[in-house]
Amino acid sequence: MDFSLSTEQKQIRDMVSEFVDEEIKPVAADIDANDEFPQDLVDEMSKLGLMGMPFPEEYGGAGLDYHSYAIGLEEISRGSGGLGTIVAAHTSLAGNMLYEFGNEEQKQEYLTPVNEGTDIGAFALSEAGAGSDVPAMTTTAEKDGDEYVVNGGKLWISNGSVADTVTLFAKTDPEAGNKGISSLIVRPEEDDGFIVEGTEHKLGDKGCPTAELRFDDMRIPEDRLLGEEGDGFVHALKTLNGGRITIAARSIGIARAALEDSLQYSQDREQFDQPISGFQAIQHKLADMDTKVQCAKLLMHQAADKKIRGEKFIKEAAQAKLYASEISREVANEGIQIHGGYGYTKDFPVERYYRDAKLNEIYEGTSEILRNTIAAQLLD
Ligand SMILES: Cc1cc2nc3c(=O)[nH]c(=O)nc-3n(C[C@H](O)[C@H](O)[C@H](O)COP(=O)(O)OP(=O)(O)OC[C@H]3O[C@@H](n4cnc5c(N)ncnc54)[C@H](O)[C@@H]3O)c2cc1C
Repeated sequence: MDFSLSTEQKQIRDMVSEFVDEEIKPVAADIDANDEFPQDLVDEMSKLGLMGMPFPEEYGGAGLDYHSYAIGLEEISRGSGGLGTIVAAHTSLAGNMLYEFGNEEQKQEYLTPVNEGTDIGAFALSEAGAGSDVPAMTTTAEKDGDEYVVNGGKLWISNGSVADTVTLFAKTDPEAGNKGISSLIVRPEEDDGFIVEGTEHKLGDKGCPTAELRFDDMRIPEDRLLGEEGDGFVHALKTLNGGRITIAARSIGIARAALEDSLQYSQDREQFDQPISGFQAIQHKLADMDTKVQCAKLLMHQAADKKIRGEKFIKEAAQAKLYASEISREVANEGIQIHGGYGYTKDFPVERYYRDAKLNEIYEGTSEILRNTIAAQLLD
């Protein structure tokens, strides 16, 4: 058992960390305030190979192992939770759908520009009446000659309003429950009937547009089907499993930001003629924050390790995401407490970490659904 990072993993960490400190952190408060998609940063990250980290170089990816990808995403999220979601939805969800389930032509045509960052990806699964209950979706894709005609709508789609490629789930056989769900590649610029209804005004996760989409007799060529008809539910579950590892990474990145800021602040802030870091009450908070971050990292890398080895990792990914998401909120909460009144204001970024952290407990499987998943695996 080796807990140390390889030379390549350290290089990735250091490269992304430097980029985060120099390019992302200085503008993170502006991204939060303006809630605009940070195209300039995404372009810079594309040049660094950060928009296709875990995919092979032959498809424009960086060819990194899943540990390195998670480390990269952790660093990005340490700078901005919104950017963390942009990269995670683009890569772990849309990119993974194309890589795992696309045929060779689909990979060449759609995955390569996604990995290169010239196209932005989105993953459209959730609907107004179908969040945790995926098979309740009502969006349909009806075959008409050599096309599918898609009708319905999707809600809360990260990158949805800026995406060039959307991996969409729709029912090709509405009577067949989860076996009637198929996945399709949608190209918003080309496909008439793709409508962005609007974007959400959210608590946090700013900079990543969360869109409501509508499909009005949208015609998709049949060669944009991923895999076979009826494979969509399995595609979604498998993709979300890998995605959960990277939401753990986003959670850890945010928690680390809160810890790092709190360590600094506690040494700068003086009360009763001494830095507050001298008080044992504050020291214990810092100790607990760091312990939680380290535990979350171990769970994340355990899940990544199983994924790399090709072993089943449903339970491990769910545990990593469940634990990391809950501790990211707890650590950010303690970060505010250590900052006192200042922590409750926008003078310090720790309140942003708290707002960004909360989302981790909701998307890609709520904490309640993840506990169901873990229990089902234990009882299986
Ligand atoms: C900012 C943001 C970005 C998102 N990005 C995407 C995206 O890119 N693509 C996408 O497809 N979706 C996305 N989502 C949707 C997200 O995955 C769903 O919100 C999530 O799955 C929960 O679904 P819901 O909101 O309908 O809640 P519901 O399923 O209605 O759940 C409400 C509550 O009931 C609980 N509950 C539901 N069922 C059970 C059960 N069986 N047992 C116990 N408790 C249960 C839940 O845990 C929750 O606490 C995003 C959401 C947000 C907020």
